[in-house]
Amino acid sequence: MIWNRDAETLDAGARARLQGARLRETVAWARARVGFYRDRLPATAPDRLEDLAALPFTRKSDLRAHYPFGLFAVRLPDIARLHASSGTKGKPTVVGYTREDLDVWREVMARMMVAAGCRPGDLLHNAFGYGLFTGGLGFHQGAERVGMTVVPASSAPTARHRLLLQDFRPAGLCATPSFALHIAEAMRAAGGAPDGCGLRYGMYGAEPWSEGIRRALEDAFGCPAYDVYGLSEIIGPGVAGECEARDGMHVADDHFLPEIVDPASDAPVEGGREGELVLTTLTKRGMPVIRYRTGDLTAVVPGACACGRTSARIRRIKGRSDDMLIVRGVNLYPSEVEATLLAVTDLAPHYQLIVDRRETMATLEIEVEPTEATVARAGGLAGLVGLRDEIAHRLRAALGLSVRVTLVAPRSLPRSEGKAVRVIERR
Ligand code: ADP
Ligand code: ZN
Repeated sequence: MIWNRDAETLDAGARARLQGARLRETVAWARARVGFYRDRLPATAPDRLEDLAALPFTRKSDLRAHYPFGLFAVRLPDIARLHASSGTKGKPTVVGYTREDLDVWREVMARMMVAAGCRPGDLLHNAFGYGLFTGGLGFHQGAERVGMTVVPASSAPTARHRLLLQDFRPAGLCATPSFALHIAEAMRAAGGAPDGCGLRYGMYGAEPWSEGIRRALEDAFGCPAYDVYGLSEIIGPGVAGECEARDGMHVADDHFLPEIVDPASDAPVEGGREGELVLTTLTKRGMPVIRYRTGDLTAVVPGACACGRTSARIRRIKGRSDDMLIVRGVNLYPSEVEATLLAVTDLAPHYQLIVDRRETMATLEIEVEPTEATVARAGGLAGLVGLRDEIAHRLRAALGLSVRVTLVAPRSLPRSEGKAVRVIERR
């Protein structure tokens, strides 16, 4: 099922014409109504699709500099809703939606959710946090638009989630991948069976996650796991998501125009190579954003998708450019560590990176939990020296850096109800 066949299967020419027309409208709208854009986009600034790369970028720092409402293009009474980013890396940024923007949001959420298997009449267990964070309400409104029954479970204690999942038997679950794993683990610990709740699909996002986490989620809940992506500055979740082919995330590119740029040189990156995702809103009225530097690293998936949708696709997000750690001259992403760890079957998908910069030579320690079965087999953590050494060896081979590996007791690392904290820096 495709939610909006007309919009989602446009041929390349029609898609480009629509994007071009909407880009011109957006540039004109922003220039006429937002001082920040008026200064940066003179009337002579190019506004054709081909000239997109000539327009200046908008950065998170610009949003912060105009905190809270300085980039709004309509008067506050015409803003129907405010949200804010999670503030993962500093002061949150505030975003505003007109009634029409909320409608666009529902539309793109419905597309993304239907692509992941949501159907009218299905029950959805929504374990994204409700509040200023866009996850909870974004999925809530999307589910209502599709015609689903939504359970606004939000970030309740895991015992509550267990009860609702077991008793209500929803068709779908949505959450951050780390919180979903936490729920599954808590269910098992209480004698429940997360794969016995009848779930047919799970939608996970709001933080980086790897194929290893996908396998862990699919094993835990016994149903396919779909990657969903978005950010509050653009609209919230609904910017992109996987279809049943699960070969990249379809971008709702009739509403959000994607580009990939080299984060260092700012130049456009072609040919499916990795770079930073830049997004331009094409229909947003409350807070249009032109060439927003998301910081998120990905690449365009070349070629057509088996599902029939013709929108651009992006690969799984590797992380944010500012997630990159530099330890003794070696650059690495937490997602690379995760991929190596989760290839080891004796480990649970819970880990933390501790970077200690208090000495001249920074050190990286990785704390990771073996599974309970592994610890039981070895007669305790002390019996797992061989496993620890093997992980250290694999990490050295993958990262080109020697790291200290510490195996910690199962279920001892902090669990999160929202975005997982993977890195701790000691300075
Ligand atoms: P904040 O930037 O403060 O965390 P948001 O709550 O708007 O604010 O989060 C958006 C960010 O979350 C994205 O820019 C991206 O870094 C991350 N994110 C969202 N979905 C995914 C996903 N599916 N995979 C990886 N990262 C994601
Ligand atoms: Zn597809």
